[in-house]
Amino acid sequence: MAAGVASLPAAGRVPVAGGGEWRLRAACRGEDPELFFPPGREDGPGWGARARAVCRRCAVRRDCLAYALAAPEEGVWGGLPPAGRESLLRRAKGDVARAVELAAAGRAR
Ligand code: SF4
Repeated sequence: MAAGVASLPAAGRVPVAGGGEWRLRAACRGEDPELFFPPGREDGPGWGARARAVCRRCAVRRDCLAYALAAPEEGVWGGLPPAGRESLLRRAKGDVARAVELAAAGRAR
């Protein structure tokens, strides 16, 4: 995404507010933060669906997911809601790198 850092909406709350330089290439730059931190129950129908659609076209999805797995966050990061990230991390026995690989393998199927 070509937007400058200063154009990030609601700094401190959008997914790209944390992490490393990968955030500069995040597809969510300039998107409405509410997409990534939607109201309602995470297990509700379609929760975070619009955010996950943005994540699917994001070039830094793996970096973002690794960040959010290592530093638990609310909302959608790396294309997954918190429960999805927790589940992935459990399957990977706490190994963040392994969890990122499992997520990528799941997307490739
Ligand atoms: S994977 Fe999603 S939340 Fe993470 S940087 Fe990309 S678009 Fe933003």
